[in-house]
Amino acid sequence: MLNNLFEPVTKLKGVGPKTAAALESLSIYSVYDLLFYFPYRYDDLEMIPLDQLNDGQKVLLKGIVATEPFVSRFGYKKSRLSFKLRIDHDIIMVNFFNQPWLKNQLEVGKEVAVYGKYNLAKQSLSGFKFVAAKNEESSLSPVYPVNRHIKQKKLVELIKLALAQKNELMDIVPENIRQKYRLMNDQELVEKMHEPKSPNEAKLAKRSAIFREFFIFQIQLALLTMRPQGRLGTAKKYDLNEIKKLTATLPFELSDDQKKVVNEIFADLHREKQMRRLLQGDVGSGKTVVAVFAIYAAITAGYQAALMVPTEILANQHFGKIAELLRPFGVRIALLTSSTKAMEKREIYRELADGTLNVVIGTHALIQPSLKFKNLGLVIIDEQHRFGVNQRQKLMIKGENPDLLAMTATPIPRTLALTAYGEMDVSEIRHLPAGRKPIVSEWVTSTHLDQVLAKIKEQLSQGFQIYVVTPLIEESENIDLKNAKELCLKLQSYFNHEKVVLLHGQMSGEDKDQIMTDFSEGNIDILVATSVIEVGVDVPNANMMVIFDADRFGLSQLHQLRGRIGRGRTESFCYFVADPKTDIGKKRMEIISSTSNGFKLSEEDLKLRGQGDLFGKAQSGIPEFRLGDLVNDYNTMVVAQNVARQLVKADPDLMENSALKEVVDYSQKVKEID
Ligand code: ADP
Ligand code: MG
Repeated sequence: MLNNLFEPVTKLKGVGPKTAAALESLSIYSVYDLLFYFPYRYDDLEMIPLDQLNDGQKVLLKGIVATEPFVSRFGYKKSRLSFKLRIDHDIIMVNFFNQPWLKNQLEVGKEVAVYGKYNLAKQSLSGFKFVAAKNEESSLSPVYPVNRHIKQKKLVELIKLALAQKNELMDIVPENIRQKYRLMNDQELVEKMHEPKSPNEAKLAKRSAIFREFFIFQIQLALLTMRPQGRLGTAKKYDLNEIKKLTATLPFELSDDQKKVVNEIFADLHREKQMRRLLQGDVGSGKTVVAVFAIYAAITAGYQAALMVPTEILANQHFGKIAELLRPFGVRIALLTSSTKAMEKREIYRELADGTLNVVIGTHALIQPSLKFKNLGLVIIDEQHRFGVNQRQKLMIKGENPDLLAMTATPIPRTLALTAYGEMDVSEIRHLPAGRKPIVSEWVTSTHLDQVLAKIKEQLSQGFQIYVVTPLIEESENIDLKNAKELCLKLQSYFNHEKVVLLHGQMSGEDKDQIMTDFSEGNIDILVATSVIEVGVDVPNANMMVIFDADRFGLSQLHQLRGRIGRGRTESFCYFVADPKTDIGKKRMEIISSTSNGFKLSEEDLKLRGQGDLFGKAQSGIPEFRLGDLVNDYNTMVVAQNVARQLVKADPDLMENSALKEVVDYSQKVKEID
């Protein structure tokens, strides 16, 4: 029924392949997409008398060009076009920067309307654009996100064309829900998003549009998870006696939280439904051993397991630990990374395919298409936020609906996780295993570096090892690397009897491993590292960390880094060296040095910045929304989730909601093209 609207944009008058291609770059494929391509702001073109204007106010001013427009050029490609504008009896100065061609549209005596920013002291207007002098019934002018392929003006035109078809829209949110939550229907919503009569109308329309966006998302999730065919898996009959033997060989007792999570996982494995579980637990909370239990259970039930981690260092370390725990039980386990030698790799491929191997631990090397399993029943992704959903999926399809355990040391508040990941059940290890000594954290400015150096000296003299971390951010990689090298040299000369070594991301996997091995065996005293040590590394004798330029890291990244220490039996120390310039920067340093609870940190982080930053786009697996914001619009998301679940429960195939079904199918299709 909505079919007309789903037709390609080329159906519109005057839209050819070239415009269509430009629109595609904005993910606009159909008339429907145009209708739901919303402005990100509105310029208020209301005319306000000069004497009522505030400094910095954006405003539309109409007047007569009073002097010959003049273009002055300065610097490289910079220019200013200026002229005087007479508004009744007043004269103001108008400047357009870097748009010299606008001069052609001007002549003395001509009436123009300029939209721009008013400078009260100088009585001048910094112009943004000329506006067609004739005014429509609303003073609000929508501004759409565009790119270099398509101009604002063109897009406005096309959306106007599309709006002529808006009465073909059918409502997808049930009427009773719309009434209950005072939401606009689709026609009204679309009209008011594009052509609001007042800021308030735009605001109300946006509220409805956000709900609609979340609603579609939640319907998709509900279809995925609530229908039995959405999550078919296999029931794994694991051997509890074997599990008990494994428990008996552990050098420690599982913490209460660990026990609870292991039980949740076992219940999932036992069920026919596919497990999709997210395990959140702070650095050092002991997620690895939980994974070992899951792996061994799957093996005793006759399945293979795969554990994927983001870095080679981590893969090596996990392999060492897990092999030690499981080999005594006859488990056959292999390590596969990009540095695995060709011959060994072939052997691993063969033994995974014929079932000789029970477990493989590895990096992205695991998602190579030619790698096959005999019967992969369990997929574990460690540090899952470092992988995209697609990468995860590439490993999942190597088995027949294998169970999935995703682990992360970057916890997000539980409620948020439940709605954002939607299709995942959430387990948490909230408390560290007993007997851990807290980490003493301190923020110091670079003027107090001597204090830090003295502390390093003290700890070294007691036989401890030190991490020194310095940022290496992709955009400024070369400068950062140079800084890291210099820092290493400085420390070498300052502590001239000690062994100071640099570890950075551009080194070969072999070199990195060698250094990490040396460090963990105690042959290196100070390890100067860029953030490659971020995840997983476990060297209990390293009890101190100094993080330089700490304000260049995100809160959760700092927390991850700090998690490398505090693993031994003694007190440990973390120094954040930073001279933040902004209030938020200072606040972050205060927060990180005052709490070491990852769950608490993530909540604080949320408060300080929006969802986008926190999750780090695309990496998180958390969907991005065009209008809605998971943090600010959280309550709307919860309502959308409830409504969607009830609806899918009552009508699992959306038979009674054909318009909704069409829209959901269509958005799925678009997502796949994108
Ligand atoms: P993470 O959750 O960061 O992956 P790990 O699994 O690496 O943490 O565990 C950190 C350290 O804690 C390891 O050395 C591990 O052996 C140890 N550990 C795990 N569980 C316990 C426990 N219940 N009691 C004592 N130590 C434990
Ligand atoms: Mg870990």
